[in-house]
Amino acid sequence: MTVTPRPARHVVRFFLETTGYSGICLPPFGIFILPDRLMQRSLVLHEQCHWHQAERMGLLRWAITYLWYNLRYGYYDNPFEIEAREFARNHYRGSSD
Ligand SMILES: [Zn+2]
Repeated sequence: MTVTPRPARHVVRFFLETTGYSGICLPPFGIFILPDRLMQRSLVLHEQCHWHQAERMGLLRWAITYLWYNLRYGYYDNPFEIEAREFARNHYRGSSD
């Protein structure tokens, strides 16, 4: 199932703005993206890949594994992040971002 991102508001927006991220995937609640980045298709694809990862593995297992990978490899080299970057790159058709 493909989830349509929603604009980040309130505490989620505050979290994104203070951490420097533009979007976050929070299954089962949704994908939240800073309002001024909602049209950035590569970012949307990246977050949708995370959603599919959670569907594929099961939410709890994905969340625990994601946190473990972050501790083990760091954010950039987290295998879930690598997959999401590659997914966005492979599915993105455009040139603006
Ligand atoms: Zn990511």
